[in-house]
Amino acid sequence: MLDVKTATDLCTFCPRLCSHTCPVSLAEARETVTPQAKMAQLGALLRHADAAAAPLYACTGCGACTEACVHGVEPGRHLLPGRARAEELSAGHPALHEVKQHHTQRARAATEAVRVACADRLTAAAPAAYLASCLGSPADEARAVLRVTDRLAEIRPEARLQIAAVESGCGGYPLWAAGLLPEFRLYAEVFARQVQELGTLVLSCPSCTYLMRTQYPAHGVPLRPRVEHLTEFLLPFAEALPVRRPVERAAYHDPCYLGRHLQLYDPPRALLSRAVEQVVEFPRRREEAACTGGGGLLPLTAPDTARAVAKGRLAELDPAAAPLVVTACASCRQQLGRAGAQVLDLIEVLDQATSG
Ligand code: SF4
Ligand code: SF4
Repeated sequence: MLDVKTATDLCTFCPRLCSHTCPVSLAEARETVTPQAKMAQLGALLRHADAAAAPLYACTGCGACTEACVHGVEPGRHLLPGRARAEELSAGHPALHEVKQHHTQRARAATEAVRVACADRLTAAAPAAYLASCLGSPADEARAVLRVTDRLAEIRPEARLQIAAVESGCGGYPLWAAGLLPEFRLYAEVFARQVQELGTLVLSCPSCTYLMRTQYPAHGVPLRPRVEHLTEFLLPFAEALPVRRPVERAAYHDPCYLGRHLQLYDPPRALLSRAVEQVVEFPRRREEAACTGGGGLLPLTAPDTARAVAKGRLAELDPAAAPLVVTACASCRQQLGRAGAQVLDLIEVLDQATSG
């Protein structure tokens, strides 16, 4: 990745070659939130304490602009941690002032719900253990994962998963995305100690999978277990999935952190195609897939924009062609649901298709 000075210099003098890709600037139709303008503003903020910080928060971290950039600049990977500069200057976004407390409460509530629902499968030491997302319904999600992997384990015993016994069920994305980097590092250190006896840590949250692979080591906190997204863990068992009740038709939405950031385009499709008779593609898919507006804490800092971004994504799809949308990210699931889609997570579809 380019260093922040080189990246902001390149953007500052760029004729906005990636503006057409940015879901936030398209939804708000404002020049001040194009990737070029936001990166120029980050450069200004790093040089002058009195530069405005607000544009830094108009980014979901989706990475769509990078796909269009001939220099390979990654605005999303600079703007979100760049919010640390705004925090340093006491100019952080007012909607995020209590994000640390909210994150703590949500992560602990997720842990507690999963603990109650899966008490007999909790462990701090196992070949492979699962960490549910802190969004949505973590207990339902964890139970669905156990049902699917237990069915698989009857044929392939190595598919059996336990549930990671952690105090706080989140990798810390809200802290990182808010620019609370010292808090993120401390959180990562505590989390790393809790999972050090696991062989593989399997996550459903693409953002936290990305963080644990890239940002934990970048902040001096390498994790001992191998970190895999659930779709990576399940892929070798795709052919063994005991499908009994396939779903007729569904469209697949590529989550930005799973696709552009982790390059996991094929594993979710391979799994989905086992459980769905006809997988429909969005017109914009894989590297070109549009964001649903859930990243970068946009639903907190600009809820109307986040909703408009999700509606824009859904409008690409003809509902008659695919009444059901499937994704592999709790945040995307939430955003598409708020926009009016009938939406399920991939694990819910695998659970339905292999039940009975
Ligand atoms: S990301 Fe690339 S294309 Fe977009 S403004 Fe920066 S330099 Fe230009
Ligand atoms: S990462 Fe996404 S939201 Fe952020 S500037 Fe680039 S295109 Fe816009």
